[in-house]
Amino acid sequence: MSVPVGMDDLTAWLRRFAEVVHERRDELTALDAAIGDADHGANLDRGMTAVVAALGEAPPADAAALLKKTGTTLVSKVGGASGPLFGTFFLRMAGAAGDGDLDDATVARALRAGLDGVVARGKAEAGDKTIVDALGPACDALDAAVAAGKPLADALAAAAEAAAQGRDATVPMVARKGRASYLGDRSAGHADPGATSVTMLVEAAAATLGRS
Ligand code: ADP
Ligand code: MG
Repeated sequence: MSVPVGMDDLTAWLRRFAEVVHERRDELTALDAAIGDADHGANLDRGMTAVVAALGEAPPADAAALLKKTGTTLVSKVGGASGPLFGTFFLRMAGAAGDGDLDDATVARALRAGLDGVVARGKAEAGDKTIVDALGPACDALDAAVAAGKPLADALAAAAEAAAQGRDATVPMVARKGRASYLGDRSAGHADPGATSVTMLVEAAAATLGRS
């Protein structure tokens, strides 16, 4: 067990993700230029900048409220496919988080709930070259590590590693969902933008949660 994840930790996670998305915005844009419409970096940067601003303006009362605010802000500020998908991820996390600090099992359950929301909304399966191909392995690794009694920081490090492997595994895939699917076989040979950005999200979690 680790020290439970509190509001400050969750805020640090979201700020870190916002920073990384901002720093690596051009990389996400280049990936989306290859197999989409070159807006994924701008979309997420706009969304996460708005999230950080919203959390600063009106600090939420508890973890669930913080995650809900993040989700609703992303849905309203980010268009395209990724706004509703990332938004749903955080809204479902909020539903699983409860109103207190999050113990290790609750963190794992909340991330899994987020993944389930993405799947329910986008109907993507493993191998479709989407967010799911990085987030799914991350949740599996997190569940296994938490069940094995690893401290949360280590469990999240394993999840980040699994996400990165999942992201890399999208390179040869042919997209079957979203805009990239319009390219057919020509979508192979590039990492999926959403699998890349959601890996940044899990890496940001590993860098900020379970460390206090
Ligand atoms: P858009 O495709 O509308 O321009 P973005 O460029 O912001 O939106 O996001 C593209 C990413 O969204 C893709 O790289 C992919 O990971 C993800 N995506 C698209 N459709 C789905 C889906 N049905 N399920 C899961 N992820 C999806
Ligand atoms: Mg796009």
